[in-house]
Amino acid sequence: MSKKIKQKSEIHEYQAEMQKLLEILVHSLYTEREIFLRELVSNASDALSKVQLITLTEKKVLDKDTDLQIKISYDEEKRHIVIEDSGCGMSKDELLENLGTIANSGTLKFLQQAQSENKSAENLIGQFGVGFYSAFMVADRVELISRSWHDDSKAWQWSSDGGGQYEISPVDYKKRGTRVTVFLKEDAKEFCNDFRIESIIKKYSNYLPYPVKIKDKIVNQVKAIWTQSKSEIKPDEYKEFYKQISQSQTDPLHHLHFNIDAPIQYYALLYLPESVGNEVLYSRESKNVALYAQKILIQSDNTNLLPPYLRFVQGIVDSEDIPLNVSRESIQKNALIEKIKSSLTLRVLKELQFLADQNVDKFRKIWEPYGTMIKEGISSDFKNKGRLMELLRFNSSVSEDSTPDVSLKDYKSRMREGQNDIFYVTGGSREAILHNPNLEYFRKQNLEVLFMTDQIDDFMVTDLREYDGKKLKNISQEDIEGINENDISNAESPLTKEEKNDMLSFFENQLKDRVSSVSDSKRLVDSPCSLVTPKDGMTAQMEKMMKVMDQKFKGEKRNLEVNLNHPIIQNLSEILQKDKNNSFLKDSVEQLYENSLLVEGLLDNPVRILSRFQNFMVSASSYELEKFSKNSKK
Ligand code: ADP
Ligand code: MG
Repeated sequence: MSKKIKQKSEIHEYQAEMQKLLEILVHSLYTEREIFLRELVSNASDALSKVQLITLTEKKVLDKDTDLQIKISYDEEKRHIVIEDSGCGMSKDELLENLGTIANSGTLKFLQQAQSENKSAENLIGQFGVGFYSAFMVADRVELISRSWHDDSKAWQWSSDGGGQYEISPVDYKKRGTRVTVFLKEDAKEFCNDFRIESIIKKYSNYLPYPVKIKDKIVNQVKAIWTQSKSEIKPDEYKEFYKQISQSQTDPLHHLHFNIDAPIQYYALLYLPESVGNEVLYSRESKNVALYAQKILIQSDNTNLLPPYLRFVQGIVDSEDIPLNVSRESIQKNALIEKIKSSLTLRVLKELQFLADQNVDKFRKIWEPYGTMIKEGISSDFKNKGRLMELLRFNSSVSEDSTPDVSLKDYKSRMREGQNDIFYVTGGSREAILHNPNLEYFRKQNLEVLFMTDQIDDFMVTDLREYDGKKLKNISQEDIEGINENDISNAESPLTKEEKNDMLSFFENQLKDRVSSVSDSKRLVDSPCSLVTPKDGMTAQMEKMMKVMDQKFKGEKRNLEVNLNHPIIQNLSEILQKDKNNSFLKDSVEQLYENSLLVEGLLDNPVRILSRFQNFMVSASSYELEKFSKNSKK
């Protein structure tokens, strides 16, 4: 280096997070180190995509006609590997911004995860794109020379030994693009080898759209796999391509490859991953489908190609009809994109339906992680509501375990003669629902009830409303009808009409500020009473959710239904006829009410019922003792 250049060189400190990342990478052991090459080659490929797009829209571009390619070379003696691209390059400001801070969200996520489970950072490295700095897993020094695409740009050299600092200086470099030189650590010299480099490229970067050359030999496929016909592509190639675009190590659950000519031409290669992380689960957008135009990457995270509820779908859409000179901003509002979106959505839904019909096992594997997202569609995609309804799967009272294996179509085909409604109940789990007293009548009558156990179900079902002419009816709500009235209470209560009224009024008086009304139950079999939601009222599940969001939230009053055939109620009625002010009677009504709250999961302070319960045990144990004294008297 000349003196002049030396003087101009500047030393910079890394951002704090960067230093942490470097520490993890520099000290990482040997397993996943080869991915440094994947990361550097993928950066080179990104830079080539960028310049390809820039060339289409800008007039003055340096080396406008140069070949778009990535060259890898190495020197065994000097122990270094060089990765060179003819991509967009970086200006000095871009170098400072891109290679001194962590901008990449994947890298940040890696860091957070590595810190939370500090021991396993090793295994994480392969799963995440840890970016440019992964070079420091194998290098004691990295030098990067870059010249930006602007035709008057200057070239800059960036270098660092992976400590807390890096150095930037001007340098003489004629070509557009970036050249990264990785000075390998002594124990990483294995990477200076044709065969090794080639196999790493084939493993991770085989489907990059630009040639990757080692000594002038192209080692990757360089083809847009999605534009090929299905018959030319082997199943393994689909899987490998998925792994390359998703940086995942597991095979996808399913892929969908097709092309459309009208009303707009496009190719699509879409994947359903085995699972998705929270960043997808809780996202409000679908951004895992990359948009290409005429094989050129326009936007890797377009959010307008699929509706948010299909955000678990990953892949690529490539259209020949999209003009290449559109800006990122205008592409979001583009009418062509809207058309692709509705066509793509339809294809995905049809494919899901096909699997639901033809490959039940696979559909189950899809429903398990993505069912709640598909349910969101019921409320948000009015146009496709009919299709989405057919995809819904529920657990039900006829299921053998908690598998959601019942479709609305199945339910309808099993409906009993005279049954007008589709019955459902919401609850935290199948287990909790099976204890719901409101279910007793339906089980006894063998009437199927759908069990809705997802948080979203309460909201989804209000938008679902009906299926194929049959209304969905919550069995915990008032006014259940369509069941044979004679079935309802087989044993006529021995209580007279007056006694019944007295009993119900007593409950009402006692609980008047807490329930909306008290009535004779038509649905209880084994339980003495239960709470039901007023028509169009808020279900217990919803109320619980509201309380989680707002601690001060007051629920609505519910109706208490009393089973006048139940032995407890009959005994209480007898006590009532003898003594209206009996304290045991009052305590019993309180206890029954709170038991019902408990079953619904609405009892705020379950410990409160304990002291009353202990009083009951005192009475019951004295009664038990009385039996002994009666016996001994005999
Ligand atoms: P990511 O690629 O996920 O953004 P990296 O750490 O791999 O994260 O790279 C950081 C940034 O550095 C890139 O976003 C890009 O702007 C820039 N960069 C890295 N390598 C190159 C390259 N070969 N050519 C142009 N820019 C590059
Ligand atoms: Mg990168």
